[in-house]
Amino acid sequence: MKLTIDDVSKTYPNGTQALKDVSLTIPPGMFGLLGPNGAGKSTLMRTIATLQEPDAGSVRLGDIDVLTEKQALRKRLGYLPQEIGVYDNVTAETLLDHFATLKGIDGRDERRRVVDALLDRVNLTDARDQELGGYSGGMKRRFGIAVALIGDPDLIIVDEPTAGLDPAERVRFLNLLSEIGEDSVVLLSTHIVADVRELCTQMAIIRGGEIIFEGEPQAAIGDLEGQIWHKTVTKETLPDHEDQFDVLSTKLVAGRPVIRVHSDGRPHSSFEPADPDLEDVYFTRMKNGRSPEQVSVA
Ligand code: ADP
Repeated sequence: MKLTIDDVSKTYPNGTQALKDVSLTIPPGMFGLLGPNGAGKSTLMRTIATLQEPDAGSVRLGDIDVLTEKQALRKRLGYLPQEIGVYDNVTAETLLDHFATLKGIDGRDERRRVVDALLDRVNLTDARDQELGGYSGGMKRRFGIAVALIGDPDLIIVDEPTAGLDPAERVRFLNLLSEIGEDSVVLLSTHIVADVRELCTQMAIIRGGEIIFEGEPQAAIGDLEGQIWHKTVTKETLPDHEDQFDVLSTKLVAGRPVIRVHSDGRPHSSFEPADPDLEDVYFTRMKNGRSPEQVSVA
């Protein structure tokens, strides 16, 4: 079962064009939608999750027309929004049981079996009787995954999964996501390149409401082979380098700026070749895509 998005557009009442003719074909597995803040990721996620209407376009999950058969889609959907509004005074077990009822799992025994299995899967069995108000950020995200997985959904949407997690929680959370069945379509939106690098076999980059790249991360990295160069500079010479070369990114290493440059050949004898990575793909595409001014309407 695949998710097909065709020419979806959305302009908010204040004139912001958040999505412009977005088309994507998303196969089962982990798909990363990468883009900076304001690119339109949440708008697209919320549209696919039937939480808001586009102005134009169509979305299909297998046989389901997402925009007209909302109930059918919701039965097959697990959605983990950026902020899960949890009820602080309720235990994880009680709330999960409640959501399982809403999802149509009627029998009490069946529900208990589902809840037990999900708590175990997200490693919250020991915390099942704790009120959610006492959960850490990472525990809340894991609880969110348990909610999203109720009823074995065919489509799982995860919006900005690692925002606000500390490094250890982030690793646990990504490991958990990576274990989700390969048969479901898992769509994760993020502005963090590493989330996509670590999890996704397919990806798209969105900027200013437009898809500017769609493909496999590994292939995109391979395409940059021989075109990425790096050099340690000084803070004083950095602006000159930015003027002269196609600087993709600057990172401090031991307090000194290291620039990465995109160039078909060695840009200058002072540069060394570097292995391309997904950040280089991201920054190359972001620079070469159309400018945001061209896609926003006042
Ligand atoms: P992302 O999730 O990539 O940060 P969003 O989809 O939240 O992007 O936002 C895309 C653009 O639409 C931004 O310019 C944002 O300010 C604007 N936007 C989002 N929601 C609304 C809204 N309800 N009303 C008006 N503008 C909005």
